[in-house]
Amino acid sequence: MLSVAEALKLWKKTDWTELAKAAHDMRVQMHGKKKVSYTVFRIINYTNVCKIGCSFCSFKNTKQYTLSLKQIRAEALKAKKQGASAIFFQGGVNPNIPLDYYLEALELLNKNLGFPVRAFSPVELFHIAKDNKISLPKLLQKFKAAGLSSVPGAGAEIMTARMRKILSPKKLSAKQWCNVMSECHEQGLKTSANIVIGSSESPEDIVEHLNYIRELGGFQSFIPWVFQPQTDNFPIRHVTGVEYIKLVALCRLFFHNIPNIEVSVLGMGKALGEVALYAGANDISSVVLKERVMRSQGIESVEDAELFIRNAGFEPVRRGINY
Ligand code: SF4
Repeated sequence: MLSVAEALKLWKKTDWTELAKAAHDMRVQMHGKKKVSYTVFRIINYTNVCKIGCSFCSFKNTKQYTLSLKQIRAEALKAKKQGASAIFFQGGVNPNIPLDYYLEALELLNKNLGFPVRAFSPVELFHIAKDNKISLPKLLQKFKAAGLSSVPGAGAEIMTARMRKILSPKKLSAKQWCNVMSECHEQGLKTSANIVIGSSESPEDIVEHLNYIRELGGFQSFIPWVFQPQTDNFPIRHVTGVEYIKLVALCRLFFHNIPNIEVSVLGMGKALGEVALYAGANDISSVVLKERVMRSQGIESVEDAELFIRNAGFEPVRRGINY
């Protein structure tokens, strides 16, 4: 197992090709040489109202909405037609939504329409519990009974105190984030975690963040992301392809206790996505289902996903939302 000091040294001093090779070897040991997995889910952002106000988030600049249950149903039915096998249900921290809304939405998506549901980042769960004066374990039990099966690691970004001050001073601290995830594990919910780089984080911030996640353990997958220029309110920098690949490789090498590393093809493009599959990543996350046909650098259909994986030299395996 890599120590924090070793990880920092690898990040600062090791050539990216060496890191990628070592990470690929580890990935082959864990998943074999050939398989790359993908899934097909639809994201439903149920509200863009949020009291947290992270500096990088563009939610506050757009017209406010909260979807009705009828609208959620319509979105989910559209997703079913497009071949989605799961729903990713996420939104802002909206204090005006009653608890029953969440329970009814979960029941609708899971019990009524038959979708496995991944929903609510730790910051949403924390505030839903607080606003409704209910303990977190009780809330998770209710959500699980209503159809929740997994929780995304969104909202982690870089959890060092220094970066939290810059990016999201009102969000959960690392300790609070980890406490919520730990309770999710206690309740038998599947979880993922992530990191987002490309602001003013230092190598120390990156490794400290990875260490929070590794020390907690219990995650199924880890996703390295890069900040998108959604607002002018935070320091953002260009992340080179080499830096991204190095990050993917470091994550693979650091997380002996997380089986899957996902590459962000949507964020980094297909060419770099292919390289990441030789640098420790073994999964390309979800096909991006769109309402209208638009060109993007993401993968927009099952055929696209399978072709992308084959072209990169691997065999595609379709998985469920929880692996
Ligand atoms: S908590 Fe999420 S939705 Fe709210 S401002 Fe931050 S990133 Fe945006």
